[in-house]
Amino acid sequence: MIRILKGHIVSAPELGKLDVTENGFMVLEDGVIRGVYEQLPEQYAGEEVTDYGDCLIMQSFADMHLHAPQYPMLGMGMDLPLLDWLNTYAFPTEARFADPDYARRVYRRLASDLITNGTTRVCMFSSLHTEATWILMEELEKAGVTGYVGKVNMDRNGAPGVLEETTEQSVEETLRWLDGCCWEHVKPILTPRFTPSCTDSLMARLGMIAAEQDLYVQSHLSESTAEMEWVRQLSPDCRQYWETYEKYGLWKDHTLMAHCVWSDETERAAMKRAGVVAVHCPDSNVNICSGVCPVRKMLDEGVWVTLGSDIAGGALLPMFRVITSAIRASKTRRIMDDWKTGFLTVEEAYYLGTTSGHRYFGAGKGFVPGDRLHAVVVDDRDLPEAIRPLSVRERFERAVYMMHRHNITAVWSDGRPVVDRRDEFAKM
Ligand SMILES: [Zn+2]
Repeated sequence: MIRILKGHIVSAPELGKLDVTENGFMVLEDGVIRGVYEQLPEQYAGEEVTDYGDCLIMQSFADMHLHAPQYPMLGMGMDLPLLDWLNTYAFPTEARFADPDYARRVYRRLASDLITNGTTRVCMFSSLHTEATWILMEELEKAGVTGYVGKVNMDRNGAPGVLEETTEQSVEETLRWLDGCCWEHVKPILTPRFTPSCTDSLMARLGMIAAEQDLYVQSHLSESTAEMEWVRQLSPDCRQYWETYEKYGLWKDHTLMAHCVWSDETERAAMKRAGVVAVHCPDSNVNICSGVCPVRKMLDEGVWVTLGSDIAGGALLPMFRVITSAIRASKTRRIMDDWKTGFLTVEEAYYLGTTSGHRYFGAGKGFVPGDRLHAVVVDDRDLPEAIRPLSVRERFERAVYMMHRHNITAVWSDGRPVVDRRDEFAKM
């Protein structure tokens, strides 16, 4: 089935590049992009047009790191350092997800909040609970959010009796969980919480499972200096944090590593070599006072960088907020570096929150023919009247900084229209 979308079409195909097609046409065939055009090609005359009028049709967002079971504690305990915050807030909250009914209620809400904020792709941590993880995957699938979810593995330094597994339990439950994953758009990813949470024998088993079942891996790396010191004590045989993953086959192509705030040149070079993807979580890094990630330097060195909300270390679920947070973090870094380093422009940060993440799932750059459509439609009519008519580029920047969820009036995910709130916006 052919369907044509009409509006101002905006995408970021390369770092720092913005493609704008004013009053353009996007042709879809069964949800797959056939092309973006200034004039509608004659062959499509007479096909069904969805006219989004003066709205912006932009790429949707990819949130490459967040903790679903921390959603209920969003905006709490923000004044504690990472390791205290984990023990006081995160672990007790996650433990609550042993209750499937509670998991259902929270995850239904989270899935709805993600999709209505325009996040159509995620890489997400669940808790260590198998049932709750299946529930999370099911709720994401139903809401139209796609991507990867991981049952968390942790067999040490959790909360014994409340939130911790034995090594055997962790392995058996992981295999049981993998067997029960049956969703079309939400797939499993192996998720050792981080080195302090996983014994060497668990890491070794997870490395074997990753190889046997050909699974991607996500974890944390070099988030805070205290954490890195802890890892040094736990793994005296490894010179650097990344080697604790590499030792067991978990440091490989498409492995996602959240934070990398304190990764030095050697660690960053190891990322690049292996095809490991950094997930920059700027709001979380500042909230927990972890540090200011040298994101500009990572990009200049050729590291693959994506963005994550890192709920609930981060307090901002909408990725358009995380994008502006990344810009501010990069400018803070510039100030700290005596104005010697560059910062992220709005186009660059938008690229990191969209294309860079979408590519993890095999997508092309921007809105390219052959990709299933992931897009948001932004109606900015309720923003303040400017002194003159704004260009689409100016409206794009203003939308990234100023939009709210209600400005996202439609969402397309994997070629399907999953949110349509145009009528609600019109009534406001
Ligand atoms: Zn995290």
